[in-house]
Amino acid sequence: MKVIIIGAGTGGMCLAHGLHRAGIDVAVHERDRTRTSGLHGYRVGISPNGARALKACLSPELFATFVATTAAPYDTLAMLTERYRTLVRISMDDLPHSGDGPEDREHNVSRMTLRQVLFTGMEDVITFDRCFSHYEQADEGRVTAHFEDGTSDTGDLLVGADGASSRVRHQYLPHATHSETGLVAIGGKTLLTARSEALLPDVVRHGLGMYFDRRGQFGITHAVRMPWGTDGGPREGVGASERELVGRWPGLRFDNTTDYISWGITTSRSLAPADTLDRTGPDALALPTELSAGWDPRWLDLIATADPGSTVGLSIRTADPVPPWTPSTVTMVGDAIHTMTPGRGAGANTALRDARELRDRLVRVQNGETELLAAVGEYEDLMRRYSSLAVRESLEFMNDNGTARRPVVGPLSVAAQRTALRLVDRFPPAKRRMARGFQKVRDSELVAS
Ligand SMILES: Cc1cc2nc3c(=O)[nH]c(=O)nc-3n(C[C@H](O)[C@H](O)[C@H](O)COP(=O)(O)OP(=O)(O)OC[C@H]3O[C@@H](n4cnc5c(N)ncnc54)[C@H](O)[C@@H]3O)c2cc1C
Repeated sequence: MKVIIIGAGTGGMCLAHGLHRAGIDVAVHERDRTRTSGLHGYRVGISPNGARALKACLSPELFATFVATTAAPYDTLAMLTERYRTLVRISMDDLPHSGDGPEDREHNVSRMTLRQVLFTGMEDVITFDRCFSHYEQADEGRVTAHFEDGTSDTGDLLVGADGASSRVRHQYLPHATHSETGLVAIGGKTLLTARSEALLPDVVRHGLGMYFDRRGQFGITHAVRMPWGTDGGPREGVGASERELVGRWPGLRFDNTTDYISWGITTSRSLAPADTLDRTGPDALALPTELSAGWDPRWLDLIATADPGSTVGLSIRTADPVPPWTPSTVTMVGDAIHTMTPGRGAGANTALRDARELRDRLVRVQNGETELLAAVGEYEDLMRRYSSLAVRESLEFMNDNGTARRPVVGPLSVAAQRTALRLVDRFPPAKRRMARGFQKVRDSELVAS
């Protein structure tokens, strides 16, 4: 059996490792020109769903390297007002978890670091600078992927892991559409120093901060502390075994290892200027400052001192529900089939779970325990179930219906929400329920069990 994967992103690479380790012939085709091309964002939270998938698919040494190269874990998740008043503070210890292994907890990851870890040892499997254009399915069960450079590759299964604008999905399920949520997000990065750390509320200096303003806008901050010091060597306090991995990790030379604060603001298109997504550099940086006029002056300072080149804007889209389809020699993982809003931080984690579920079933095909199409169908049935929950929950968290901006009703609803959150903060059972709600799509197996 030969598996062709389009896209060397989170889901595609995790699957490729899992298949490669199981002795299945696998080829990954990636449109980026080199392993260091592209800006793939700054930070991603890997949940137990994602960590379990990485543990199942990577070699034990590479999984240990993944763990060793993550940023310092968070102690807190807090919701605050735009004036830095705490509404709810949840300790990371309050989040339910199924065990004590590194695969049972949250990891704070620099995206480029994860990408480089996932490329490690796969030099013979990935072809860069290979942009997929279309595929052809032959009657006898073979499938051929065609690329823009005129080359092609033939195998038994084609996996579209080519992200939200997937060409594989466009051809295979043209009716699987996306909708705009009416929201845009602008994010950036400020170097983490003693000065910039002091611009964060105390409660989230080692955690995740979510800020809600009176116009229905939503801000976020992450303090990302990498395990390398300024000399590029492992930082003081990194444990002995991890020290060795961090020190000799081959991907290190490709990565940005500096500590930073990642921040973002999500707003309604009705509040953002029409050219929001076209702006770059200082013009782009002026935008979050304008949108958050009236926020705490420390927030404004955090944005003002950001690296202008780090600012990115994106339009937030979500996948529309798709009715089940008949399995064939083409399938998909990750954003290619279930793009979701970043609301629950579940996109990459769901892509990783897809990779693990599909890998498990393809290994059974390889062992002669099941047929390929039955395995693909079983994977797709399960994937549709957990991913539709994740898409729905992610949309609910980021669904701006404009209520906050309506006269009279708006201020009342904001005040009611803030009071409700403050009450939750005072009652431990309510707080535990909220923490469990957060984990619903991040540790879906735990919540399902
Ligand atoms: C602001 C923001 C914050 C987020 N935070 C989180 C978070 O905290 N936790 C979380 O779980 N998720 C998060 N996500 C979502 C997460 O980034 C995505 O869901 C995840 O990267 C999807 O992985 P993937 O493997 O499906 O696709 P990707 O990682 O996007 O990979 C797709 C790959 O396919 C390649 N490709 C595309 N087209 C072609 C082609 N034609 N030919 C060849 N190659 C191609 C691309 O170059 C890329 O390498 C966030 C998203 C955003 C926007």
